[in-house]
Amino acid sequence: MESKKYLLQEGQIPQAWYNIIPDMANKPLPLIHPATKQPLKAEDLYPIFSKAASQQELNTTDRWIEIPDEVRDMYRIWRPTPLVRATGLEKLLDTPAHIYFKNESVSPVGSHKLNSAIAQAYYCKQEGVTNITTETGAGQWGAALSLAAKHFGLELAVYMVKISYNQKPYRRSMMQTYGAEVISSPSMSTKAGRKIITYHPNHQGSLGTAISEAVELAMSTPNCKYVLGSVLNHVALHQTVIGLEAEKQMEMAGEYPDVVVACFGGGSNFSGLAFPFLRHKLNGENGVTRFVAAEPASCPKLTRGVFQYDFGDEAGYTPLIPMFTLGHNFQPANIHAGGLRYHGGGAIISQLKHDNLIEAVDIQQLDSFKAATMFARSEGIIPAPESSHAIAATINEALKCKITGEKKTILFNLSGHGLIDMAAYDRYFANDLANYEVTAEEIAQSTKDLEKIL
Ligand SMILES: *Cc1c(COP(=O)(O)O)cnc(C)c1O
Repeated sequence: MESKKYLLQEGQIPQAWYNIIPDMANKPLPLIHPATKQPLKAEDLYPIFSKAASQQELNTTDRWIEIPDEVRDMYRIWRPTPLVRATGLEKLLDTPAHIYFKNESVSPVGSHKLNSAIAQAYYCKQEGVTNITTETGAGQWGAALSLAAKHFGLELAVYMVKISYNQKPYRRSMMQTYGAEVISSPSMSTKAGRKIITYHPNHQGSLGTAISEAVELAMSTPNCKYVLGSVLNHVALHQTVIGLEAEKQMEMAGEYPDVVVACFGGGSNFSGLAFPFLRHKLNGENGVTRFVAAEPASCPKLTRGVFQYDFGDEAGYTPLIPMFTLGHNFQPANIHAGGLRYHGGGAIISQLKHDNLIEAVDIQQLDSFKAATMFARSEGIIPAPESSHAIAATINEALKCKITGEKKTILFNLSGHGLIDMAAYDRYFANDLANYEVTAEEIAQSTKDLEKIL
């Protein structure tokens, strides 16, 4: 049984984050030091990350990790976020299913990313760090970290994936409004960037490349740490405020989800919503709930990738992570859900997927925009292109219920709104967007050089 200490009261913000690892029968495999090939120790991460984040990354024993007061105080600006019954969408679909969504789009920056940005910036400040650096795809993470850095008085440099830098100028403006420096990646400011530009002058950038640049800057600048917005265990940990609140709110609604759905980039919003519910399944209290990760068909790591050790970035600076991966050199198509264009899933998620405790589905770009439009017209909120993948998967589940007559309760994460992604919607309405299919040969090619550790 779990301690009563951290049980959430109505309307409260959680006092602790939930660490799923102690509850996993098969623990995630260890991160491996790329040079020594030995399991990583927290000290190995100190040059890159804050000490607190490094320790949380490797914490396999504490189920609950207290949220610092300064972090909770900032969460109070927009948390708890609403849990909404999507009656408009239910009606539109004419489904017997009950559809709920957790609305993370109400954060000041419009996405769930702020939950971890605040925590990581806080720990850096606590440890006397003055500068932080990161990468961003669509700009959601960069915007969130810009706000958090400003709040705690840290200087921030953001490497923004070039395609998004040009396609999504308003996220760049948001970061600049909060006072961050934004650099288009690949750039000439790092060795990793210069190398890529030399060989591929028209490289449009990728999250993997931007991570390499940010990590390099952190390693070569005194008193500078790197901060990551997804994939890693400590990021998933911080995001569990989503699911802990949702658990309480579902209880208030008198329901428990049969299906939990979230879109999947590196896994942070999925983990955040799913893990608190999954803990009941792992502890044998509720065996029926299904957990569905919705990834883009153009970047299908969970459904079609290989389970193997791989780097988190293109240049190979990060530790080796045990993950479902398409290979760190995989170049996803330029879909508009920029936050989902990442080659791998995190260590925890990958182990859970390997053990069939979670499922994954692939969503085509055009289906995601169709779902987004249905949702906007029935619920009023214009979703982020990333979140639209979760909506498409939810609609598929709800339509299955229509055929079987089952009254399932489906809960999905609205990870962000799309008000700064209207250029993507414009292109959708102009019939200017396409679906992208990855061939088996492409995957075989991009994964063939992975070290065979597993
Ligand atoms: C970044 C982002 C995602 C994808 O990242 P995860 O770590 O998989 O959650 C999804 N939705 C939104 C709105 C995002 O900003």
